[in-house]
Amino acid sequence: KLYNQLQDLKGNIRVYCRVRPFLGGQSTRLVSVLDNIDEGSITIVTPSKYGKGRKAFTFNKVFGPSASQAEVFSDTQPLIRSVLDGYNVCIFAYGQTGTGKTYTMTGPKELTEEGLGVNYRALGDLFLLSEKRKDTICYEISVQMLEIYNEQVRDLLVSDGEIRNSSSNGINVPDANLVPVSSTSDVINLMNLGHKNRAVGATAMNDQSSRSHSCLTVHVQGRDLTSGTIIRGSLHLVDLAGSERVDKSEVMGDRLKEAVHINKSLSALGDVIASLAQKGSHVPYRNSKLTQLLQDSLGGQAKTLMFVHISPEPEALSETISTLKFAERVA
Ligand code: ADP
Ligand code: MG
Repeated sequence: KLYNQLQDLKGNIRVYCRVRPFLGGQSTRLVSVLDNIDEGSITIVTPSKYGKGRKAFTFNKVFGPSASQAEVFSDTQPLIRSVLDGYNVCIFAYGQTGTGKTYTMTGPKELTEEGLGVNYRALGDLFLLSEKRKDTICYEISVQMLEIYNEQVRDLLVSDGEIRNSSSNGINVPDANLVPVSSTSDVINLMNLGHKNRAVGATAMNDQSSRSHSCLTVHVQGRDLTSGTIIRGSLHLVDLAGSERVDKSEVMGDRLKEAVHINKSLSALGDVIASLAQKGSHVPYRNSKLTQLLQDSLGGQAKTLMFVHISPEPEALSETISTLKFAERVA
């Protein structure tokens, strides 16, 4: 309750930055581009191309390379819990491919208990808390899993493995499966099915996952056992397509089409969040499928958390700068 009041004062948009560790034996290398990482800001050393100097970017929270999944979740938990009080919450993972978006939301490829990402921990926490409240409120929790690829929405929870297109108008995708869940293992099974269906759709493309947005939506309905009042809340957990810019002079055909769609939808998302941050301005929800789909959960009383991911490699500097600039704009 207190947290929600504080949030209302501060506004409903938060931006957290997570820095991936060096991978595979690079651990002894120095972090040369990230000059300083502290609780709430990151300073980068910009080369002359960007106007030589140091530039600090501030965030609501920064997670350095050694931050654990549990630490990341503990700063996310209050938002997730507010879903049971009837709030709509959107959590996004933004960043260049390979910076750790899927790691944050889902976990490493070989899942371990400590490795569990925000998605699993969020559901686990909702089950736990709804169980605690069961003497006063009866909760029902159900999930949808969608993918947006080239501005088309697909349902990932079709049991026959076939992917249907879903027409989306507003918050609900009417023909997308909404599956009741009551335990973390239910969720793991559904997510495995979703990932399998995603792979089926990948066909010719080797790594479609970095070129589509995937969205796990949790719907919560609670009935107050004495008054009969119904509370509804929702949680959208979105692993966004990779934000890297593609050189349009170098790609053609499908790759170009994908790049154009990704670019368009990520900038539409940035536009929506930036205009929400400036209260009173027009919010351009209609410019992409993603923002249309999430319209009812962005703005108003809804809460938004953007995780921006960066990697420490010097080679990634120009993408890192563009990610930090995106973050700066929405904060
Ligand atoms: P993305 O989804 O942004 O393309 P991934 O989540 O697939 O990136 O991460 C790329 C690689 O880096 C994966 O092998 C992943 O396990 C690893 N990785 C990412 N973030 C971390 C982290 N915080 N700690 C350890 N390994 C990580
Ligand atoms: Mg990924």
